[in-house]
Order: sequence, then C-alpha cells, then structure tokens
Amino acid sequence: MSSYAVPPWPLPALPVAGTEALFPVRHIYCVGRNYAEHVKEMGGDAAKEPPCFFTKAADAVVPGGGKVRYPLGTKDLHHEIELVVAIGSEGENLEAGDALACVYGYAIGIDFTRRDLQNAAKEARQPWDLGKSFAQAAPLGAVFPVAQVGQVTRGEIWLEVNGQRKQDGRLEDMIWDLPSVLALLSKYYRLLPGDLIFTGTPSGVGPVVPGDRLRGGIAGLGTLEVEIVAR
Ligand code: MN
Repeated sequence: MSSYAVPPWPLPALPVAGTEALFPVRHIYCVGRNYAEHVKEMGGDAAKEPPCFFTKAADAVVPGGGKVRYPLGTKDLHHEIELVVAIGSEGENLEAGDALACVYGYAIGIDFTRRDLQNAAKEARQPWDLGKSFAQAAPLGAVFPVAQVGQVTRGEIWLEVNGQRKQDGRLEDMIWDLPSVLALLSKYYRLLPGDLIFTGTPSGVGPVVPGDRLRGGIAGLGTLEVEIVAR
C-alpha cells in the first residue's frame, strides 16, 4: 500500500444550499472581459471579440466567504463580483443549445485580482497567473442546484464595500451568455463534474484594503460576505 510523502490536504469543496452535501471543486476556469462596461473601464475595446479564459488553483476557494488575508505581493487587490457556474456532468465540444445540460448549479463568487501584477503581466505580454491565482483568491457562496433555482441567466448582480454600492450590473448584460461561454470553453477543456466557471464581472471594480467588509449578491443566490484582514 502506498502512502503520501507529505500529508494530503482536504479536497476543496463548497456547501450546497439546502442540503448537508458538499460540492467538490476540481478546476476553476474564469472568463475575462464579459460585460461591455467593464471592458471599457479596463481600457479595452468592447467589440465582440472571443472571451479570454484563465484559471485559478482549486484550493483558492474560500467556502462561504468570511475572512480573507490580504495577499502577498500586491499593493492593489481588486474585487470582481461574478456569477459562477458549477458543472455536474461531463462534456466537450458542446453546442450552445445543449450546453446548459451539464450545469449542476450556480453560486456567487469574487474573482479577487492582484491588479498591479495583472497589469504588469499584460504590458509584458506574460501570463496572468500572478494576478489571478493565489491563496484565497476565490471566495464563493453556497452552490444552488438548478433543481432548486432553475437556470440563472437574468437579474441583478451587485457588490458593496463597507455598505457602499460599488458594482451594480445585470446578468443579461453579459457579452457572451452562459451557453456560449460553456460551448467555447468546452472546445479547449473537457468539462468535468466539480469544475467551476467564473463568468466575468460587471463594471465598478476597485481596490480593497484590510478592514474592508464586502457584501455581494446575485438574484436568487443569496449574498456572500468577506472581510479583508491584514496578514
Ligand atoms: Mn473576473
């Protein structure tokens, strides 16, 4: 019998709303530039180019939110509130018309971003990993199964920092809707149970500092609260 050379860590997992079950996290995929107003605020062209994809490590999840330590290596940590899709069944090369069949449920997520590092990477034409994938970079609320809430394609998505509304968008303003995002992503990766897909953020992103309290919500998916604490 083989054993582990170092102690294994728990499988990253999220609570499932209304049950005792956990949703195990396998991969975290993210879509960049998926709301026109956010593309503009980042200095991009809102013309309908294919979306860009990037990833975060699965152990970046902060299940249910709570305290997040200000990350290493940045002076400009930004919040991005996003609808997150939780995948329940396998699929590759999906057609948009069939793509929603692989969705298990939906959750609220924050795509925390070390914006200074992301911008430096963009300028140097380097990968975004340093800006996007780091400890506690992905707080998430409970996963709400489609069986409970249906497909989540419309409604408000918002985020407050210390009680002040910073982001205020609508899911139907996505440039690439959910079926299109799933179809495109599945041309590059076989989607697998446990995968999470962050679907992009509306405008109003900005910096947070230790002591800040964030509260975000999406219609039908409750709220997610995070407090930034010093290291
Ligand atoms: Mn994002």
